Amino acid sequence: MELTLLGTGAPAGLPRPDCPCAVCAACVTGRTNARAATSVLVDGTVLLDLTPGPAFAAARAGRSLQGVRQVLLSHPHDGPAMELPAGLPAPLRVAERQDLALISGHRVRAVALDSPGTGYQVTGPGGDRLLYLPPGAAPAGLEEGGRGDAASVPYDMVLLDVLGRPEALARLREARAVGPATDVVAVHIDHGVPPGPELRRRLAAAGAHTEPDGTTLVVGDYPDVPEIPRRTLVVGGARSGKSAEAEQRLATFPGVVYVATGGKREGDPEWAARIGAHRERRPPSWRTEETCDLVPLLDKPGPPLLIDCLALWLTDAMDSVGAWDDSRWATVGARMLGERVDALVEAVRETRRTVVAVSNEVGSGIVPDTASGRRFRDELGRLNARFAAECEHVLLVTAGIAQPLRG
Ligand SMILES: [Zn+2]
Repeated sequence: MELTLLGTGAPAGLPRPDCPCAVCAACVTGRTNARAATSVLVDGTVLLDLTPGPAFAAARAGRSLQGVRQVLLSHPHDGPAMELPAGLPAPLRVAERQDLALISGHRVRAVALDSPGTGYQVTGPGGDRLLYLPPGAAPAGLEEGGRGDAASVPYDMVLLDVLGRPEALARLREARAVGPATDVVAVHIDHGVPPGPELRRRLAAAGAHTEPDGTTLVVGDYPDVPEIPRRTLVVGGARSGKSAEAEQRLATFPGVVYVATGGKREGDPEWAARIGAHRERRPPSWRTEETCDLVPLLDKPGPPLLIDCLALWLTDAMDSVGAWDDSRWATVGARMLGERVDALVEAVRETRRTVVAVSNEVGSGIVPDTASGRRFRDELGRLNARFAAECEHVLLVTAGIAQPLRG
């Protein structure tokens, strides 16, 4: 199947009309960043979602709507009724789980969602399959053992709201409806993420990509499947947004193990509140482990690990080797800590798991007053450098903005 993306934006389009935000402003000035509401033409025959001016958008992409036999709507459209271009069949929403066989040889099946709207599975005459989901939607019934509407074979291509509803992709991955060879195309792009490199980086971390309006894609012809980053270190100062960035990077993956390295702190209400807040922010399919024992986790295969954070791991390690006592530090403490750091770095190098680790960037602040404070700062700087050396991706987060230092 050949797909032409007539639009790739959110229902209101990008920039949103009259929106004063910085992202919309950037989309006004950068002509290639503007996106019409998402609408996809499949083999010139099936139109998924109808947006204003489809004939014009098609013409701009070098396509015609004359051969369209079916117009399918995936979600209720707000605003005034859309003008239907002459010659187009009346749009239709297929009932849940209903099948539609088209004379062109395409088969369309409506996919049940967990929100108002309908997803569509389209099978081409050659047997290639794609899944198209409306904005903000995730498929329903995928997690109950059965695979719901998504068959056991991964789709060749899925088009969905990766940024607005990352757990939709996590669910599809969990049900194996999205596999390593599935082309994941982000559509319904809204003003949540600045266009350009930041948008590309965010989508690449999810194993997805987006294309400008007017692009034609061929299902199954996908030479550049973006490789999902394996090891990432996210560093930043206090309240820089580093934890949120790390969580976002794994939001499209199921079953992530969140490793809180503070250990079990019985009777520490502030710590309990912090863990509770993290837990609320995270998808329900994630699991939390409160431990500083990172090496066994890295050694065994399993779902992605989110380690938050290395500074607390180091605090625990320095506590346990007696690093705050000068004479003990000079005789055995430094050596024992070195062994622990070596073991951790070795485990990161050898791990087969996807890992995102968070750490504090403390070296550029004021010099700590105490010897133990300076010792901690120095050891954390060294640990960050050695951990970073084993990571394909390293990010620095400042004021909520992540800058890639590597990858
Ligand atoms: Zn805006």
